[in-house]
Amino acid sequence: MTAFTVSALQETCLPISINGEYRQSAGPEIDCFDPTNGQVWCRISDCSDAEVDAAVRAAGDAMRNPAWRDITQSQRGALMLRLADILEENVERIAEIEVKDNGKLLREMRALAQALPVGLRYFAGMADKIEGTTIPVNKPDMLNFTVREPLGVIGVIIPWNSPLFMMIRAIAPALACGNSVVVKPSEHASAGAIAFAELMTQAGFPDGVFNLITGYGHSAGNALISHPGIAKIDFTGGPSTGRVIARNAAEQLTPASLELGGKSPHVVCDDADLDAAANGVVAGIFAAAGQTCVAGSRCFVQENVYDEVVEKIIEKTRAIKIGDPRSDDVQLGPLALWSQVEKVAEFVETARSQGATLAFGGGRPEGLGDGWYVEPTIFTDVTNDMHIAREEVFGPVLGILKFTDEDDLLTQANDSDFALASGIWTGNINRALRFMRRIEAGMVWINTYRSPSIMSPSGGFKDSGYGKHNGFAAIQEYSRIKTVVIDYSGAQQDAFVMRVTK
Ligand code: NAD
Repeated sequence: MTAFTVSALQETCLPISINGEYRQSAGPEIDCFDPTNGQVWCRISDCSDAEVDAAVRAAGDAMRNPAWRDITQSQRGALMLRLADILEENVERIAEIEVKDNGKLLREMRALAQALPVGLRYFAGMADKIEGTTIPVNKPDMLNFTVREPLGVIGVIIPWNSPLFMMIRAIAPALACGNSVVVKPSEHASAGAIAFAELMTQAGFPDGVFNLITGYGHSAGNALISHPGIAKIDFTGGPSTGRVIARNAAEQLTPASLELGGKSPHVVCDDADLDAAANGVVAGIFAAAGQTCVAGSRCFVQENVYDEVVEKIIEKTRAIKIGDPRSDDVQLGPLALWSQVEKVAEFVETARSQGATLAFGGGRPEGLGDGWYVEPTIFTDVTNDMHIAREEVFGPVLGILKFTDEDDLLTQANDSDFALASGIWTGNINRALRFMRRIEAGMVWINTYRSPSIMSPSGGFKDSGYGKHNGFAAIQEYSRIKTVVIDYSGAQQDAFVMRVTK
């Protein structure tokens, strides 16, 4: 497959994919920018309601098509394995397209693209292991069991920061369970998902199992989540959009899982390996230029090692090489959106005005042309009530706070609207486990950070959303339980009394 490469996509208006076929949308065009130079590099379309309707209908038809509905679970798994093999051959191409769209490091996008076949194989292996249970009800001569079945058409909405990684973690379990999908990627980064659509056909999935529409959230996205043909919404994005989605989903009584933002606490205790911890803190916030939901943006350092740790963090930050995300030695690329650059500047201004000390960065690096670069930025003397400690920046900005003891740490760390990820560096396992128990976060990393696995459940609490991706938990998200009761006594039933278990 060579059609969808960066050079082939350049300056074209990219198609959508409905019922196994690429087609040009009739909707108005949207410019997609290359963050390394701020120039338009390709265009996508803002799909109309009719096009969204056609995609959902195609996915609904696929659920009724014997070619998908009636194949065995193992055959479903085999299709997914074939897709994984095809994806593996396309890792570099996919990574290059995604870098063009969101400006993240090629090394990072390559690593994420390499994880896609791994995720598909993991869930392919589950396709024929999705079991119900037999329930020993208190009724002789009665068999009660459950079966798990697909939900129907899953509407998947993804953000721009790691498009295909976010998409595969949703569609792999959805397909393993026998659902069909309609995906709407971010208007800022759709090209990778568009290129992916063809691989589904190559792998042999029946038409309509995978459909892809493009456009803005308020138009195409809204049409998708409001469509009565959607059985479940799988949303990854910001908390304010999450609230809109949840409200609209409630109108239709459509279940939704929401993977939202974070303001994750990243803790350095006085008994930690301080060099490893400082390294972890720097990677936890500046990798992906801070544009990751799990960014360790609230760093808590124990007061007796505060100055030493701050110095180490600044020293490591000073060594960060900023530049073209395609260069192997670059560690910090541009931000994906110009609006993000402006947002970071506002955060910096507010943090200063509220009394935080700007200890490093805070501006834009020179000599990098019109690219959307910002410096890695560190604030010290941050307190937990400051804007910089409470709101998600989604950029390379670290706030460093102090704590005295475990109670003080947990009081501060849990005083947040968010509860997505957390990390702690300590040489004391008891301390680490006490933190793990008491911290309000969906993920806890101990002496490591930003270490996700498709095999391990991920998702947050509080304003970070609800529902789980990854791991066996995802299978429960994309399947439903049906209860079956068989009376094999042959006895006549009292027609007027419910046969409730006593
Ligand atoms: P966003 O909420 O602006 O957009 C996400 C998606 O929602 C896009 O596809 C957008 O078009 C769509 N959308 C917007 N309004 C909509 C509406 N009314 N109806 C339907 N769809 C709509 O988020 P973003 O700026 O693309 O991504 C950044 C956010 O995503 C951050 O908050 C980040 O923390 C979060 N995120 C979370 C995770 C996670 O796993 N928890 C992972 C990645 C990103």
